[in-house]
Parts: sequence; C-alpha cells; structure tokens
Amino acid sequence: MHKVVIIGSGPAGFTAAIYTARANLQPLVLEGGFLPNGELMTPGGQLMITSEVENYPGFPEGITGPELVDRCREQSKRFGADHRDAVAEEVDFSGFPLRVKVEGAWLSAATVIIATGANARWLGLPSEQQYLNRGVSACATCDGAFFKDRELMVIGGGDSAMEEALFLTRYASRVTIVHRRESFRASKIMAERALQHPKITVEWNSELEEILGDGQRVTGVRLNSTIGLPNRDLPCGGVFVAIGHTPSTGIFQGHIDLRPDGYVQVHGMTGTNRKGVFVAGDCADSRYRQAITAAGMGCMAALDAEKLVEAYEAEGLLAH
Ligand code: NAP
Repeated sequence: MHKVVIIGSGPAGFTAAIYTARANLQPLVLEGGFLPNGELMTPGGQLMITSEVENYPGFPEGITGPELVDRCREQSKRFGADHRDAVAEEVDFSGFPLRVKVEGAWLSAATVIIATGANARWLGLPSEQQYLNRGVSACATCDGAFFKDRELMVIGGGDSAMEEALFLTRYASRVTIVHRRESFRASKIMAERALQHPKITVEWNSELEEILGDGQRVTGVRLNSTIGLPNRDLPCGGVFVAIGHTPSTGIFQGHIDLRPDGYVQVHGMTGTNRKGVFVAGDCADSRYRQAITAAGMGCMAALDAEKLVEAYEAEGLLAH
C-alpha cells in the first residue's frame, strides 16, 4: 500500500511531494496526462504556460514557469518521490484503504493529496477555438509579447482581466476591456489602475459574440450589446479571454464534498470530508491562486498526511 499518493504536479503537488518524500513516505506522484474523458491534466499545471514568475521568493531575477516546475520535480526526486506520467482515472474514497485507479489498475493508499489545479475558462465560441493560439489566448504573460503594437481586446471584468489588460499595455498600442455589465467585479485598486491607464479603454455592457478573422489570424471582434444597442464590429489583432478558472475536480464528484462552483470543499486547513484525503492548491482555492500559496498549502497537506500516516502506523494499520 502506498503511504501517500499525490494527484497533480503544480507547485502544490510538488511541494507535497518534497515534504512527504523527505519524511521518507515514498510518495507516488501522478503528474498528469489525458483523463479518460479526453481532458488534459497538464503535467506541471498552469506554470507550464507562464513565461516569467517574478514573485516566487528566492528568484530575484525571476524564473520561467517551466523551469520552476523542472526544479521542483528534481527536488522531490532527490528525496525518493516516484513520479509517473499518469492520471488518476477513478477514485474510491469510501473506506480504508483509499483506492485510486491508474492505467486501468487500482492502487491502495493510506492517504491521498489532491492537487489537480484549475484551468482557464473559455467563452465556448467556435471562433474562439478556431483562432486559439492564432490571436486568441487566455494568458497575457505567455503570449503578450507576440502582440507588439497591436490593438487588443481583453474579455472579463474581474482582477484577472485587469491584470491581463495592464500587462498587455507593455506591448499593445491600445487595450480594450470588454465587460458584460457596467461595473467591474475586480478589486477597487485594480479597477482604478486599469481605468486610469492612458492605453486602456472599456466597452461596457458588451459581450463578445464572435471573433473575426481572415482564416489565419484575428482581425477584429463582433460585440453584442447587453442593453439592446446594435452589434458592433471593432478591429483588433488579438483577444485575451480572462473570465475566470475552472477547477479540475471532475473525477472527485460524488467522492468528496465539492463547493457549488466545483472547488474542493476544505474541512479544517487541508482536509476533505473523507479521512485521509487532503487537498492543496488551486483546485481548492478560487481566491489567491498563486504559485506560492499553492506551494504553502501543499506543504500543509503533506504535514497533515504525514501525521495521519504516523497514527496509522501506531495503530498497526500500516507497516513502518
Ligand atoms: P472572477 O473574479 O470570477 O471574474 C470573472 C469575470 O469574468 C467577471 O467580471 C465576469 O463577469 C466575467 N465573466 C464570466 N463569465 C463570463 C462570460 N461567459 N462572458 C463574459 N464575461 C464573463 O475571476 P478572476 O478575475 O479570474 O479572479 C478570480 C479570483 O482571483 C478573484 O478572487 C480575484 O480577486 C483573484 N485574482 C487576484 C489577482 C490580483 O490581485 N493580482 C489577479 C487575478 C485574480 P461578471 O462580473 O458580470 O460576473
């Protein structure tokens, strides 16, 4: 039986792996891959599409997301973590031991740490898919530099949209935020920063109806008014969708408590409603969503799992 199985490999999963490996629990890390429904769990998580991480302590010059992932992986391997390019296909948390299906076979585990992260949300327009990576993006830090001197649209009214718009002003000639209401959801400070920026304008009460293009690249957008005004076509060279994130928790539905928005319901600090099942990172956190907060929670989940393993060993349920 595995003492710890870690599902996911972003900063939360890797930090949990470093701590549990260093505590000699030989964790099995399911790094990711394709889920049975075809959805991709990207090994390394959202850091893999982050160009520069400038706010992770210890890297005063910054570090690229993929390099940070590589370094975390090496660090946990150094202490004996077993990393596999595989996903949890199914789980059974109904009793002890917990069970996780990997590559068609059920594994037993005393504890499981869920660190499956979240993915950017899309509007679901066919034109959005058609022009994905050809002018449509959900990550300004990854793709902004490709849009030098272009006019860009940012869709959304939350902090992510403000952050993306402000970041894009480094490259774009003009940034237009398209928001479906007439006030932002974003925090006051972020909203004011965006509103006061000379390169940023806002299209209030507007929804993106279609992304226009010449078949190869984006040339504009068609906006639909939410207050009954006529549709408008505006030219632009790129569209950044910033309408929030969806947690990757589908396989846990019915097995642990999830919040109505799909995030894992945390009990205490890192617990779930199932004994031995812990959670860390963006799949449980819709608020902070930072690499460092995910890493911190990964550490907490590891320490909580370690304590339970010790208790199981003392009870004779697990061999030392
Ligand atoms: P969010 O706060 O949920 O905002 C999503 C925005 O997208 C909302 O304005 C929403 O409009 C809009 N939206 C959602 N679905 C849409 C659709 N189908 N069509 C058009 N618009 C749509 O998400 P977020 O901005 O990603 O932020 C998530 C959390 O992370 C927040 O707690 C935020 O404070 C935090 N965060 C913080 C920072 C920072 O402080 N630096 C940066 C990024 C994120 P409505 O307003 O009409 O619902």
